[in-house]
Amino acid sequence: RAKRDPARPVMVFRPEMHVAALRQLQIEGDLPQAARRGQLRLVYQPIVDLQTGEIGGYEALLRWQHPQLGAVPPCEFVPLAEELEIITELGAFVLEEACRTFQMASSCGPEGAEGAAPPALQVNVSTRQFLRPGFARTVQRILVRTGFPAGRLHLEITESALIVDLDEAARTLTELRALGVRIHIDDFGTGHSSLAFLHRFPVDGLKVDRAFIARLGEDAVSAKLVETVLLLARTLDVDVIAEGIETRVQRDHLIRLGCRWGQGYLFSRPLEVADTLALLHASSGALAGPYD
Ligand code: C2E
Ligand code: MG
Ligand code: MG
Ligand code: MG
Repeated sequence: RAKRDPARPVMVFRPEMHVAALRQLQIEGDLPQAARRGQLRLVYQPIVDLQTGEIGGYEALLRWQHPQLGAVPPCEFVPLAEELEIITELGAFVLEEACRTFQMASSCGPEGAEGAAPPALQVNVSTRQFLRPGFARTVQRILVRTGFPAGRLHLEITESALIVDLDEAARTLTELRALGVRIHIDDFGTGHSSLAFLHRFPVDGLKVDRAFIARLGEDAVSAKLVETVLLLARTLDVDVIAEGIETRVQRDHLIRLGCRWGQGYLFSRPLEVADTLALLHASSGALAGPYD
């Protein structure tokens, strides 16, 4: 009997591991072709003024409808796209598709509400995509090709994008800001950025992670944290968007804390492109929800 190396863990093979491994293999094999095969689409979730329901922007969220596996969530395939080194192509696809859709809406629809600023388009950018040299040039190329105004494009990056490679991050941020593109920190509060970081890397907005919003009203620490982020944002003169608002209690709490912008199922789920275009064309530009 072979002696077991005590340093090596014992692998117990269970049938469900086989299923998971097969799924993983299929996803890895199919992801590189997904865009070309028309399996990828974007949905758009409104970002609203918590008191008035006015829409300030939309966040583009990627969806993959796999012919056998059904909907594969982005938290599963985006990290894989980074590992497979196809995130540059995938990210460019998302940016171009989103900018094209929003540019089309503004050029063929009626003007928005009297005096209201046209809504922003928020696009998620993964850390590796952001840190790849040439990212800002890709963004510029897409803005030129689609005609979408740089000032309406807000890129969402996570704190790790700023921390992993300080020099590359600083360079890319400077290039993007020179284009007029704005930067928001996504999932704020879950990473490792500090006051010093926000000072060194000027950004335009912070998105408070859903985890803190979910616990609002349940634990005092979450409320304190949200309050601190709002204070910080006021000091730095940046916007704050609260993510994942699901209840009126959470919304009211955020209003009391002085938060203006929010996003969540209470207001709207992510919308298919046709519904997004209909909203963009509606003259009011506000979501009159059952929530007030
Ligand atoms: P994220 O950027 O923080 O996006 C917010 C996520 O919360 C989205 O999940 C959204 O559908 C979900 N959400 C919105 N409101 C609520 C709510 O009230 N309650 C709950 N429980 N969830 C809510 P989704 O679409 O599954 O995306 C997950 C993550 O995948 C995103 O987190 C983002 O990090 C990534 N992702 C999505 N699309 C893209 C993309 O085009 N590019 C990149 N690089 N990453 C993407
Ligand atoms: Mg996001
Ligand atoms: Mg987020
Ligand atoms: Mg989040």
